[in-house]
Amino acid sequence: MSLLEFDKVDKYFGETHVLKDVDLEVEEGEVCVIIGPSGSGKSTLLRCANRLEEIQDGEIRLDGTSISDPDADINHLRQRIGMVFQSFNLFPHKTALENVTLAPKKVKDLDEGVAVQRAEELLDRVGLENQAASYPNQLSGGQQQRVAIARALAMDPHVMLFDEVTSALDPELVGEVLDVMHGLADEGMTMLVVTHEMGFAREVGDRIVLMADGRVVEDSPPEQFFEDPETERGKQFLSKLF
Ligand code: ADP
Ligand code: MG
Repeated sequence: MSLLEFDKVDKYFGETHVLKDVDLEVEEGEVCVIIGPSGSGKSTLLRCANRLEEIQDGEIRLDGTSISDPDADINHLRQRIGMVFQSFNLFPHKTALENVTLAPKKVKDLDEGVAVQRAEELLDRVGLENQAASYPNQLSGGQQQRVAIARALAMDPHVMLFDEVTSALDPELVGEVLDVMHGLADEGMTMLVVTHEMGFAREVGDRIVLMADGRVVEDSPPEQFFEDPETERGKQFLSKLF
């Protein structure tokens, strides 16, 4: 059984069919990189996995349990699936440390000391041990995004979803965020990563999933995808990149 499974998932926005019969299985410890043109449904796929969007047909399962079922416990689910977006959305009037402790204190009912100690460990892990007392506007975009990753990790998720987390960053700040993600992958975190960073996809990804027009059109190991894609869509996509 895979850790995260999309089973014949269909998603509509009104009349628009945005995810079409999507099957995708992510194994524990696997880094699955999702690429594809703008509008192909990548963000929607991640958002459905976190129940930010509802699906109309099929099922999404985490550890064998349906998360798309209307009766699923959304709060419990969101604790197990962390998500980081392109826009960091940190709380502007809270320090880096407070941004990381907020949810665990509230949701997990951790006491202050335990929450602070854990947050300090996580800030250390993303290379921000000296910025705990800084406010978001005192941090660079790359630092803010690393706080956002620490904040998501604070809930001890089983799976992390990353949606173009470096797309809004100045080019010189992209590497520090990708390095943190690379480290997480090396530690065995299960990750579903939407990105345009093909170097990262190739180096860190265990699988490359190409989406086009709401469908998974290719699902290959990186070596294969980047050297000799199986599908015509894969070849087309690559030819536009290089
Ligand atoms: P990607 O992340 O691959 O760029 P998205 O998942 O954001 O693609 O979007 C897929 C399709 O769904 C697009 O056609 C987009 O216009 C549409 N879409 C996304 N979000 C909404 C929404 N909230 N309401 C209506 N249509 C949406
Ligand atoms: Mg998107």
